[in-house]
Amino acid sequence: MDSFDYIVVGAGTAGSVVAGRLSDSGRNRVLVVEAGGSDNTFWIRVPIGYGRTFVDPKVNWMYETEPDAATMGRSAYWPRGKVLGGSGSINALVYMRGLPHDYDDWARDGATGWGWNDVLPYFRKFEDHCWGASNLHGSGGPIRITDVSAACHPLVRNYLDAARSLGYGETRDFNGDQPEGVGIYQILTRNGFRESTSYAYLHPAMKRANVEVRTHCHVLKILCSGGRATGIRYRDPSGAVVEASAAKSVVLCGGAINSPQLLQLSGIGPRALLDKLGIAPVLDAPAVGRNLQDHLNISYFYRSKVRTLNNELYPWYGKLWAGMRYVLTRTGPLSMSVNQGGGFVRSDLNQPVPNLQLYFNPASYTTSPSNTRKMLNPDPFAAFLLSFNSCRPTSRGHIEIRSADPMAPPAIHPNYLSTDKDVAEALGGIHLLRRLAAAAPLAEVIETEMIPGEAKQTDEELLQDFRQRSGTVYHPTCTCRIGADARTSVVDPRLRVHGLDGLRVVDASVFPTVTSGNTNAPSIMVGEKGSAMLLEDLG
Ligand SMILES: Cc1cc2nc3c(=O)[nH]c(=O)nc-3n(C[C@H](O)[C@H](O)[C@H](O)COP(=O)(O)OP(=O)(O)OC[C@H]3O[C@@H](n4cnc5c(N)ncnc54)[C@H](O)[C@@H]3O)c2cc1C
Repeated sequence: MDSFDYIVVGAGTAGSVVAGRLSDSGRNRVLVVEAGGSDNTFWIRVPIGYGRTFVDPKVNWMYETEPDAATMGRSAYWPRGKVLGGSGSINALVYMRGLPHDYDDWARDGATGWGWNDVLPYFRKFEDHCWGASNLHGSGGPIRITDVSAACHPLVRNYLDAARSLGYGETRDFNGDQPEGVGIYQILTRNGFRESTSYAYLHPAMKRANVEVRTHCHVLKILCSGGRATGIRYRDPSGAVVEASAAKSVVLCGGAINSPQLLQLSGIGPRALLDKLGIAPVLDAPAVGRNLQDHLNISYFYRSKVRTLNNELYPWYGKLWAGMRYVLTRTGPLSMSVNQGGGFVRSDLNQPVPNLQLYFNPASYTTSPSNTRKMLNPDPFAAFLLSFNSCRPTSRGHIEIRSADPMAPPAIHPNYLSTDKDVAEALGGIHLLRRLAAAAPLAEVIETEMIPGEAKQTDEELLQDFRQRSGTVYHPTCTCRIGADARTSVVDPRLRVHGLDGLRVVDASVFPTVTSGNTNAPSIMVGEKGSAMLLEDLG
């Protein structure tokens, strides 16, 4: 059996950081095992390739949730990256750290050492921020953060002015000292290419003699003996089942769906579930797979009186021009995220903190087949969209394996809209979108509200539409959450699995609660802080 100091399971957003940092010194022997393959492909490197990888089974786990009562019994499509860089190789590139109180709430709820002042140094450590170093930003770190405000579509200005006319402030930097307001999203790109933790940390690490990365290798089980994780069993590309051992630690970085799945398959999970499926129990860990949180979003589509990105990208000559521009200058719509305008706002004055995240996209794709986000295949007429989600939903779902078969996808129960607060906030967001669209700077360019359409007016109709059309913004988290109590959390504040030695979880599954914004930057931070803890404790 091969033996290493550390085995990193999953080379996604956090796993790539962990592999890079653990191997930095050149001393630790690190094995990285990833179910997907190389990320050196055109559609991953080009930002707008998001529309392609969104539904590409070669790089995507393409999960379907269980039917969810509150969303009219619908199953939802949940893409997750299955490739080096993980979901960070297929995401929409928005750079958002979350709001400082998110982390102070983490610390207050038992994640000691994870308050805002504790995590800020790790955000600064990985940042190579376009505006240089400040007390809130880092410079010279591995991850490039780009300001695309100068390249945004002119309609974004109408959106910002509409929000201002309603009394919302404008901010230059959602990750700066004034996160509240509307503004333009910074994105993770470098010289027009996608910036992922794989390219920033893992590819450099792969040049070191002490790192081995095995792709197309699906981890089947974490091996445990005498109260300790000792290694892993995985299926290699030939189909052979292979084992490897870890002298210091197995570090599980499979993400919020696969990390709890792998723990349960390994006998670390709720005892009743293990017994039901005939899995030999290693540890009764009732919180594994529980506490699932996600952001539930809805888009409102508007037919426009003026040109939108659709006019540029729909015609074949527009695609050709955008492609040539990208190839020659690495600029233009292909170098951007689909989301340009954004916001962190309060739905009403009674909210103590921003409770809604907004998106303005100067394109639309209502006629794309199978409702995919095909930016390269937008509607053949001028249109744009506005969307929102609650920042901190209180509904919690769960994930559990259906059988002992490690290749079978787990059952995902989102349990959206299961609290009154979440339902009320959905309604608050809907009314805000309608108010934005009615404000002069947007109203004067809107021909008509295409979806849901002006016929829907009562709260009942609008909520019904929300239940029918809302969907994930791809932020599942919290299924192996940090906490002090082994009955309600999976890892302790140093990311050690409660009750077992030699096993840590370092990915978005450890968030105690979902952060107010997008979850990639917080996952990078978890990778940085988790690696620092590993090196302090075992290095
Ligand atoms: C379509 C989409 C759009 C998004 N847009 C944004 C955005 O604009 N901004 C933002 O901040 N966030 C965004 N996100 C969310 C963000 O990308 C994720 O929160 C983040 O990448 C999670 O990181 P992670 O390390 O927890 O998991 P991942 O990055 O998903 O990594 C998990 C890795 O583990 C591997 N793995 C899993 N199981 C096994 C196994 N059994 N054996 C071997 N390997 C395994 C996976 O293949 C994967 O590579 C988006 C996500 C998606 C899917």
